[in-house]
Amino acid sequence: MEDIYNELIMEHSMNSYNKKKLDHADFCEIGHNPNCGDEITLELKMNGNIIEDMAFSGHGCAISQASTSIMIDTLKGKTIEQAKEIIKTFIEMIKREITDEEELKKLEDAIAFKNVSNMPARVKCALLAWHTVEDILK
Ligand code: ZN
Repeated sequence: MEDIYNELIMEHSMNSYNKKKLDHADFCEIGHNPNCGDEITLELKMNGNIIEDMAFSGHGCAISQASTSIMIDTLKGKTIEQAKEIIKTFIEMIKREITDEEELKKLEDAIAFKNVSNMPARVKCALLAWHTVEDILK
């Protein structure tokens, strides 16, 4: 299982199809993690209550880039309420406040970052995009 997750992270960090500009973004927010030098710009397009599209640009380590890309896959098409619930679950998984596999299923591919909770130096990298989108949805 671990290898599949690592591959997924590698895939998204190297050449993400979510790394682009949106034509008509409704929201744009910059996230910065000075500890590592990660910097991302998130763009979000809403359709009523639903996250219609999302994209990112910027630079940073493999974990921050992959986490942003996989987050976009996970949140796209969700309602604001669903997205908030997923974001909360992701943050709690990284902080090891949730370990129940059933509860983590709603994270879809983002569950690949579960082991980051064992790497304190990488926690902020993994959470950067999630905190940034949380700010947009507030
Ligand atoms: Zn980083």
